[in-house]
Amino acid sequence: MPPFNTPDWMLAALQERREQHLFRSTKVITSPQTTHLRQADKDYLAFCSNDYLGLANHPMLKQTMADAALSYGVGSGASHLVCGHLDIHEKLEQALCEWLGYERVLLFSTGYMANLAVISALGSKQHPILMDKLNHASLIDGARLSEATFKRYLHNNVASAAKHMASLGQAGVLATDGIFSMDGDRAPLSELARLAAEQGWLLMVDDAHGLGCMGEAGKGSLALENLSAQQVPFLMGTFGKAFGVAGAFVACSHDMADYLTQFARPYIYTTAMPPAVAATVLASLQLIQSEEGERRRETLASNVTLLRQRAEAWPYEMMPSDSAIQPLLIGSSEQALRISYELEQRGIMCKAIRPPTVPPNTARLRITLSAEHSHGEVGHLCDTLDAIFHDVSK
Ligand SMILES: *Cc1c(COP(=O)(O)O)cnc(C)c1O
Repeated sequence: MPPFNTPDWMLAALQERREQHLFRSTKVITSPQTTHLRQADKDYLAFCSNDYLGLANHPMLKQTMADAALSYGVGSGASHLVCGHLDIHEKLEQALCEWLGYERVLLFSTGYMANLAVISALGSKQHPILMDKLNHASLIDGARLSEATFKRYLHNNVASAAKHMASLGQAGVLATDGIFSMDGDRAPLSELARLAAEQGWLLMVDDAHGLGCMGEAGKGSLALENLSAQQVPFLMGTFGKAFGVAGAFVACSHDMADYLTQFARPYIYTTAMPPAVAATVLASLQLIQSEEGERRRETLASNVTLLRQRAEAWPYEMMPSDSAIQPLLIGSSEQALRISYELEQRGIMCKAIRPPTVPPNTARLRITLSAEHSHGEVGHLCDTLDAIFHDVSK
């Protein structure tokens, strides 16, 4: 193969990332996605996936996907608006509406696209966009895609949000993560809903990390605060995390769904999710609503309690969180990488999250727990960290 000529500016940018300990690359996993992962012929106990309920390799769901592929085929063939919207998509939408109490649901192939769609369609020169500083990148990118004035308020600070609203003058879209993906903490949703209603703003909540895991019947962050569809006109959720599959949805009113169907380009100009994925997500939803789902949520919660008890002895602080995301704040990227590396040497996979994903000097070990982790395995992670902190401080 003749050599590729990579421009110097690209090489310089890569070199800079390496020098700052911020260089990232993908690793190949050669096992199914469970709490035990195989990488480069080594087995690891993993604490870094978002498969919080342990459903990604669930036998019943695997069978559902295989059966659905046999009956529906493997591709949807077109966008929802052309001829790619199959009866199984419709069935999944209805089940989500009933579960969450919304009039309508639109499906997306990824959460990233769902957020781009809603934010870019609602934001405009007349309707500014306001969001939490720590919102997921896809919400921020949605704002960049629109022509709207875009402001960010201090993390979980309702007074800061109110101040921005006052200075913006016009009402627009207020968007927040329900549970923050790199921090694990919860947004003050009731207060934000009250502020949005008072000021005539539309509230959107991205509950990628709450749905399935938290609240009554796994209904997520809104259920934790008894919030209705009327108080949160746009609710976004993903199927690649607690649901264990792939894809996402946006729930809203009938008219709002019609609006998105006309104006949300990431909904219009893309192929519908494969029907077998929709069938599997529907089966996953039924599992989440069942007694097995309840049991899995209880196990996950007990793992969180165990980890946080053990963490009290560590020289670093666990960030405040009652979700499956339990970040251990390290600070320096180099040190966070070192701890992650030491864990890996001892057969545990848990990733350091560094800037620019998180603010400068807040590198952390993002520990994520699953209902599939046993107390013995969580205990093993804690014993191993005890040993690493003992050695590192010497
Ligand atoms: C993961 C995530 C997304 C993106 O969802 P994908 O389906 O993985 O594209 C959006 N928002 C939040 C808060 C997330 O954590």
